[in-house]
Amino acid sequence: MTDYPELQLFIDNRWRKAAETLPVLNPATEQEIGRLPIARRADLDDALEAAERGFKIWSRTAPRIRAQIILKAASLMRERGPQIAPSITLENGKPLAQAGMEVVRGAEFFEWDAGEAQRLYGHVVPSAPGIRYSVIREPAGIVAGFAPWNFPLSQPARKVAGALASGCSIILKAAEETPAGAMHIARAFQDAGLPAGVLNLVFGNPAEISSYLIPQDRVRVVAFTGSTSVGIHLTEMAARAMTPVLMELGGHAPVIVCDDVDPAAAGTMSAVRKARNSGQVCTSPTRFFVMEKSYQAFAKAFADRAAAVRMGNGLDPATEMGPVANHRRIAALEALVEDARAKGAKVLAGGTRPNGPGYFFPVTVLAEVPDDARVMREEPFGPLAIINPVRDLDDAIARANSLPFGLAAYGFTHSAANVDRLTQGIEAGNLSINTLEASVAEVPFGGVKYSGHGREGGAEGLHHYTVTKTISHKMELDHEPTVSGAKP
Ligand code: NAD
Repeated sequence: MTDYPELQLFIDNRWRKAAETLPVLNPATEQEIGRLPIARRADLDDALEAAERGFKIWSRTAPRIRAQIILKAASLMRERGPQIAPSITLENGKPLAQAGMEVVRGAEFFEWDAGEAQRLYGHVVPSAPGIRYSVIREPAGIVAGFAPWNFPLSQPARKVAGALASGCSIILKAAEETPAGAMHIARAFQDAGLPAGVLNLVFGNPAEISSYLIPQDRVRVVAFTGSTSVGIHLTEMAARAMTPVLMELGGHAPVIVCDDVDPAAAGTMSAVRKARNSGQVCTSPTRFFVMEKSYQAFAKAFADRAAAVRMGNGLDPATEMGPVANHRRIAALEALVEDARAKGAKVLAGGTRPNGPGYFFPVTVLAEVPDDARVMREEPFGPLAIINPVRDLDDAIARANSLPFGLAAYGFTHSAANVDRLTQGIEAGNLSINTLEASVAEVPFGGVKYSGHGREGGAEGLHHYTVTKTISHKMELDHEPTVSGAKP
């Protein structure tokens, strides 16, 4: 039996049990693997007190020292990858190799932001003699972070990395379904010597925790990754406290396949990518718009490879795709497939869940899906792809932009002119050409429209965790108003 850690809260540098617990299930077997501690109001108050003390210390810690501690924690995560990965597979279901890659990816987010911690430059503004204007960026304060279950380690890593690199403290509520990933992060930081209170980890009832933390005066940033509906709810709550938010929300990523690429190669590669994390990725390629000339070959290659995907328990090395995370996803996927089928879509692969146990759903390929099918508008967040033919690039771009989402978008083409038209025309925070990778540590990631706002990663990743302060410094005491050198 692979080890799954004993689940605890982490507050003020101490691990803490809770009187109330809930079961954590393995989605591949539906069996209990651990008991989740439920934070009470007193735990949240302790976390707030600790985060306030932690902020005082950490915001005044030299950026180079902050970076050293973050890098040490990242290196511990890399070293512990072989122990961490199985616990991610147990709680989330993804294949062990993907869980191992997730640990590396989480470490990369920390490593990148540790570098950025040392480049939080301000600037001096040219001004009249006798006065100097300087602009600095300061850590914002306590962050309330909310991370989802699809990447148990690398999603919390994004929030913790941005907050800690900026000099903020954080109270992280990680996902109840997948608590171990975030616990491994907290352990690594504890062992790396992070001062007490800078990182606090809680679990519990998401609505109770967010509605208690977000209105607190002491909380200065809200950072959330999850569904658009919950994102809007948290944004409204934060607005009442005038607290800025960083929102990474849903997508419904379009993929435009031009007829100057090998359609079979693009189809095969897309099916493999669709299976990644059982399609539970906000950037997962979902709406494929394929030029008519390439349509048949692309759809066939995609469906053949999708049907061949080996689905199973993620601990089995032969498994390519694990289960989805919970029964809610199965119910949502089944409803979307049934609705599309009833409206005339063709099912080229998958479509029916196998007998249990486990929340398994095969890679499902829907073709020629009518525009009024729900799946054309609702994010499936599972291994479901839509393949529809399009007349030309204008048609494809119009269809890609037709939804209120704009997170990731993709194009397959070797034409620089097509790339330019995609770059100008696509409404999305991230556009990837000839690759289905949309989010790496060194570039900013985030959405437009209902996919949210703010960016994680890249040089922009720390902006949301800092505030800009302007210092106007007159060299002598002077009552005269000086506005950029203008004479009164
Ligand atoms: P959901 O809307 O119930 O929850 C989404 C996430 O928000 C979960 O992590 C949940 O714990 C959290 N949450 C829910 N209510 C909350 C509240 N009041 N306060 C704070 N956090 C709250 O949906 P679900 O069934 O868990 O997930 C499916 C949907 O979530 C998908 O349709 C997808 O759009 C979205 N999702 C997106 C991402 C992403 O990476 N952007 C990740 C996971 C889930």
